[in-house]
Amino acid sequence: MATPGIRPLVAGNWKMNGSLAMASALVGDIKARHQGGALPVDLLLCPPFPYLAPVGADLAGTAIALGGQDCHVKANGAHTGDVSAAMLADLGCRFTILGHSERRTDHRESSATVAAKAKAALDAGLTAIICVGETEAQRNAGEELKIVENQLIESIPSGANVRNAVVAYEPVWAIGTGKTPTVADVAAMHRHIRALLEQRVPGGGKMRILYGGSVKPGNAAELMGVAEVNGALVGGASLKAEDFWGIAEGAAKSAG
Ligand code: PEP
Repeated sequence: MATPGIRPLVAGNWKMNGSLAMASALVGDIKARHQGGALPVDLLLCPPFPYLAPVGADLAGTAIALGGQDCHVKANGAHTGDVSAAMLADLGCRFTILGHSERRTDHRESSATVAAKAKAALDAGLTAIICVGETEAQRNAGEELKIVENQLIESIPSGANVRNAVVAYEPVWAIGTGKTPTVADVAAMHRHIRALLEQRVPGGGKMRILYGGSVKPGNAAELMGVAEVNGALVGGASLKAEDFWGIAEGAAKSAG
């Protein structure tokens, strides 16, 4: 079991993919598998903002949670194109992903911004999924533990605790590349994150730490079985129900 007493979370990050028709078909397929025999794993779908309402309607009455992929620091105001955490909560979201490496790169989000967004999410009653991870150059330089440690310290807001925050370790070089760290490297990083959470966050010994980066049905059971891995943040493979479900089955093998 990856961490005794922690139920795994498998979260699908659809990013900017799909269409309304695709979203509806994908959710229908995942729901059918879920109704056929729920797994001892929490499931979360994070579609693009425009599809939150229809996906939320499709998920109503199921145990599958809905989440956003970002939120603004402020609760409202003149911020064209942005979405607040309270708006996500209004649509039935329980989670939002924050500080994904694509946002840190494409939108130059600093860890301070991520912490402010996470605080806004907490204030709106959402659970913040705070993403951290090193680049390939940083890993090659042997700096990965320090980089992730600094990102974590700077990205976790005051008020975060075991009930309202989740950490996702996503090595940047593993996202969408088909490459994954070795099991030993994942174990070392998750141990390091756990130790930090235990020191700095109330209930940090039981906070979920997800692994993300090229998780597939074929490697899910092995990765999810690593000590202190408490589920997965899944990008590409979350766009096919069969693959997403296969990953959830892999996570279920490590559930206690
Ligand atoms: C992600 O973007 O969060 C991710 C893990 O992507 P992928 O599974 O495609 O590597």
